Amino acid sequence: MIHSEIGVSPGIAIGRAYVLPSSEWDIPERDLEEADLTEEIDKLLSGVRQSKTELESIRSDIRELIGEEEAGIFNAHLAILEDPIFLNEVREIMRLRASRAEHAVQEATDKFASMFELLDDDYMKERADDIRDVGNRLLKHLLGGGSEESPPMEAPYILVAKEVTPSRFVNLGPGNLLGIATVMGGKTSHTAIMARAMGIPMVSGIDGKLQRTIQTGDLLIVDGGEGRLLVNPTGSTVEEYQRRKERQQEERNSLQRIASCPPVTQDGRRLEILANISSLNELDRSIQEGIPGVGLFRTEFLFMDRSSVPGEEEQYRIYKEAVEKHRGNPLVFRALDIGGDKAISYIALPEEDNPSLGLRAVRILLARKDLFRVQLRAILRAGAYGPIRLLLPMVGSLDELREAKEVIRQVKEELRAEGAVFLDNIPVGIMIEVPSAAVLADLLAREVDFFSIGTNDLVQYVLAVDRMNEAVASLYEPFHPAVLRLIRHTAQAAADAGIPVGVCGELAGDPLALPLWLGLGIREISMSVQSCLPVKKALLESRADRCREVLEEAFRCQRAEEVKETLAKAWEDTSR
Ligand code: PEP
Ligand code: MG
Repeated sequence: MIHSEIGVSPGIAIGRAYVLPSSEWDIPERDLEEADLTEEIDKLLSGVRQSKTELESIRSDIRELIGEEEAGIFNAHLAILEDPIFLNEVREIMRLRASRAEHAVQEATDKFASMFELLDDDYMKERADDIRDVGNRLLKHLLGGGSEESPPMEAPYILVAKEVTPSRFVNLGPGNLLGIATVMGGKTSHTAIMARAMGIPMVSGIDGKLQRTIQTGDLLIVDGGEGRLLVNPTGSTVEEYQRRKERQQEERNSLQRIASCPPVTQDGRRLEILANISSLNELDRSIQEGIPGVGLFRTEFLFMDRSSVPGEEEQYRIYKEAVEKHRGNPLVFRALDIGGDKAISYIALPEEDNPSLGLRAVRILLARKDLFRVQLRAILRAGAYGPIRLLLPMVGSLDELREAKEVIRQVKEELRAEGAVFLDNIPVGIMIEVPSAAVLADLLAREVDFFSIGTNDLVQYVLAVDRMNEAVASLYEPFHPAVLRLIRHTAQAAADAGIPVGVCGELAGDPLALPLWLGLGIREISMSVQSCLPVKKALLESRADRCREVLEEAFRCQRAEEVKETLAKAWEDTSR
């Protein structure tokens, strides 16, 4: 039986199922006597204390086992537990309805979780899981701390569940997990984030009926890359997937062999291939893969999965750790790029009909200079430990650039006056991702140290195609001649001004685009960690002189399809 699910963590797992029983608590039906209220509230508070201690210990285990970012998920759980709105609601229910603490906790949990589930935003919907997770933990302690059932098998297994909360994931001991299949959860669910960080294949969105028919002990295949779950497959299917799994491993191993080769074409042109990361964990993975630097650190992800803005010291520690881990390799910190699809729950932004065209990135940094200053201070101080660069997102005019540079100047002056140690001559660059910036690249190039072309947004804004909207996905075309012309104009402006230009959008991870970078004299491209070695392989097989010829031909094309055909044809030629 094959079903189509969504893959939320890549890789293939083959193994026996362990079906997680849904946790239903047996709460004694007894109303509360007036006189018991104080006693019952004491019980509630003691349950809260026990839950907190437990969460703190899980948080420190996760920090050791996986990393700081994933441990942060439990900060969110602690914040829910400490939230006076939640606890007041529980107390009110107890007082008004003479309910026992357990009933009141269950009711308050349902109320808040349902509120989040109704929101029209996947990220917020997934926060409902966190609330239920916290509610279940509290109930467990109120009902005498009964331990959660552990898997009946010693051997590693594939976990099947309606949903897997982050703490259940931790309690089960991820070391024994071959794969995960759930009904609920998406790519941004915390469990998916942790599964990816640990390399555990996972699919979500499996049919609820199917989930109920799977028995513990059934043989399963999880294909997290293709988004498939196969139940009791035939022997030949298992063999086929076993071969695929081995092939994937071999491909990765063989690519690993080129990790240490210099990134040069057959005719000696060098093109730096760097990683895009959003956490220290991803940095570790990119270092493990031998990727010699970071072209884009999306710092806004450090602001997610928590309930308040990280302070200067906390940011400084993270940035400094990144710099130290990187031992002198390139490292580009992008200032907070929030707004648009990247909302942060505790930073209040107005409701907008058109968030991608609204208050986003540098526009927020200039409207909320308090946030910008704190981040700048932390980045500049971390810069004392190694060479880093600072990248400003979504700059669209000289005025915006100058205002941002003025804030940077003031922050440096402040640090100097305090006698702080920091990187005074930090190179400051801008993302070229808004059409006005690409058109004005010649003027902007005189006032910055480098450009980084963000094709993800550039394509969306040049073509007026929302990058998040499935309905117009077929119109989202990075090889559109209009996009290519703006990239060429930007590269030319950078060359004329004598500043370096890199590319950090997803297009950089497509080997088909290599002739563009080699032909336009771009020296650095960055992409998601998984794409680095495949792109490097293509680079090692190419010739820069051939790419230049091909590019001239591609620029004579009138349509994206022709551009792609031309590049592909040339690609075959260059790899011969
Ligand atoms: C881009 O827009 O190309 C980019 C790299 O930034 P993000 O995807 O974070 O918007
Ligand atoms: Mg962008």
